[in-house]
Amino acid sequence: MYRHPKDILEKFWGFPDFKNSQEDIIDAVLGGRDVLALLPTGGGKSLCYQVPALAREGICIVVSPLIALIRNQVDTLKRLGIRAIALTGGIPFDEMNDLLDNCLYGKYKFLYLSPERLQQELVQERIRQMNVNLIAIDEAHCISQWGNDFRPAYLECHILKELAPNVPVIALTATATDMVVRDICENLHLERPLVVKDSFSRNNITFRVCWEEDKKFRLKELCSRTNTSSIVYVRSRKMTMELANYLSQQGHTATFFHGGISKKDKDTRLKQWLENKIKIMVATNAFGMGIDKPDVGLVVHYQIPDSMENYFQEAGRAGRNGKPANAVLITNPTDEAQVRKQFLGVLPDVDFLKLLYRKLANYFQIPFGEGSGETFQLPFNAFCETYRLNTTLTYNGLRLLDQNSVISLTEAFSQRTTIRMIASKHQIFDYLEKNGPSATIVQTILRTYGGVFDFDTKINTLLIAKKANKNEKEVIAVLTKLEKDEIIEYHAQHSDLEITFLVPREDERTINIFAKKIKQIQKVKRDNVESMLTYIKDSKLCRNRQILNYFGETVRDNCGKCDVCLQKIPFDNDILKIIEQDILQILRVQKESSRGLIKLLTYRESSIILALQRLLEERKISVNSINQYEIIER
Ligand code: ADP
Ligand code: MG
Repeated sequence: MYRHPKDILEKFWGFPDFKNSQEDIIDAVLGGRDVLALLPTGGGKSLCYQVPALAREGICIVVSPLIALIRNQVDTLKRLGIRAIALTGGIPFDEMNDLLDNCLYGKYKFLYLSPERLQQELVQERIRQMNVNLIAIDEAHCISQWGNDFRPAYLECHILKELAPNVPVIALTATATDMVVRDICENLHLERPLVVKDSFSRNNITFRVCWEEDKKFRLKELCSRTNTSSIVYVRSRKMTMELANYLSQQGHTATFFHGGISKKDKDTRLKQWLENKIKIMVATNAFGMGIDKPDVGLVVHYQIPDSMENYFQEAGRAGRNGKPANAVLITNPTDEAQVRKQFLGVLPDVDFLKLLYRKLANYFQIPFGEGSGETFQLPFNAFCETYRLNTTLTYNGLRLLDQNSVISLTEAFSQRTTIRMIASKHQIFDYLEKNGPSATIVQTILRTYGGVFDFDTKINTLLIAKKANKNEKEVIAVLTKLEKDEIIEYHAQHSDLEITFLVPREDERTINIFAKKIKQIQKVKRDNVESMLTYIKDSKLCRNRQILNYFGETVRDNCGKCDVCLQKIPFDNDILKIIEQDILQILRVQKESSRGLIKLLTYRESSIILALQRLLEERKISVNSINQYEIIER
């Protein structure tokens, strides 16, 4: 079977042409080459693997980081009449077996799975038998430790190359820094990959930095002026709730999202927002990766992001449908200190790690040259108090020691653990049949905690261990596995930690081995924050040009609509008034988009946009849900 990519594009999607580099990428993949595709958010990455997979016989394996993302993609494909299957959690064993069988006997064109699923033996064994035509690694930057989205399981994705030899691999991401690119190529074992990078230019987005003492007021104003779906990014969980409440009080439909809310809440809120039942999502950066909502008209950054990459990714969620959209960063002079404190103050440096390691060894009275293999309980808060250590910094330090194999850190939680069963009773029994060792512990939980199917339930792991005749460690291991298999939702707080020393105590030397790497990580993070601050403070160069410069592109033209460009336009009030009158005259007859107005009027685009902004501010006109301007009747 071989069909022409263009026919496939037309037949299934009804699009007449490929965008940007899509065609080159698809050709390379069909030619059997490994490809790394660096396209901006909304650049059309999915089609780069979906089209070639449809052009050839066999099945395409897609690794994707989030279940919501996988579901969304699979639903879209199904709607187009394409057979796709998602291996997410909570699927009973038998069913999974059947699903994998279906892939094997050619019924499906796409198999989507998380990197964790890929680590399961059953899955690997079946993939080995499948007629795989393409391996796609979506959001491939998750493989890199330099970014925020690092997922250790991604490092194992290269196993696909062994399971399906001689099949091309395509890696896709919107992150394009050199370090991430190198990590992707190396860790996925790409062979002489074709690296394709499209311009990151997003011409329909107006980027603005807005200095404002009263940030809340400005936020409210922006939201009132926007009729379309919006996202507001903040840096703390508490702030998501605070702002969502505030915006609701101001008469908007708003909700909040962060890593700490239950899975059920995440699902419902995302759904309500996707279906436009809720207009504004106030979120931390836990929200958004891969969300393909075309009609987001406004993305606000209410606090300063930690890097230009993250800023651009988040802002880029606006205007995916190509319509004019706004990305506004609201800030004031106090934010800079806050951002430095929040990001840089909690980065452990080499000296701190040395100090922490020594204190740790002293605390447990480990003599020099000994300690390897010994395990201890660390009462975290007491430890920090004893040595007057900042808790966040210390926790981050312990994690770094763990990542560099000095200690192994287990978050053992005796008192403040909550769980909730998210699989049905039927699914659980089915699962237990296949996972014998978990059975006693799960049964004990079910017997001890009645409401565990309905609520987040506080459990006592020590008590469960005693009742089930196991030790606490086994209980925690089972809970962790159940969470991974999506049978339960599991929240544990790091009030108590368990530490195993992996190497003999040698103080400075132990740390010096990886000191260079720590310094490098520190530098990258510092540079990232500095670049972000530079961007915010640079009021001389067009925002669009600043952003593209940062991503290594040279652009000569100013966008004409960002805060910097608008400032430069000679402010001829009389002309502006005339333009405003002309706009009003048109709008009295018909609703028009800004593009339509630009076509109809003979003035400079930037002047028209300025006039529109003034009219909006004076509340003479408003924007409707399809981005047309209309007169506000009085
Ligand atoms: P990305 O993963 O790069 O962020 P997606 O693959 O989700 O982007 O695509 C973004 C949007 O662009 C989708 O709505 C998709 O249907 C649309 N799109 C992709 N390719 C084309 C094309 N060739 N012509 C028109 N629209 C396209
Ligand atoms: Mg995508």
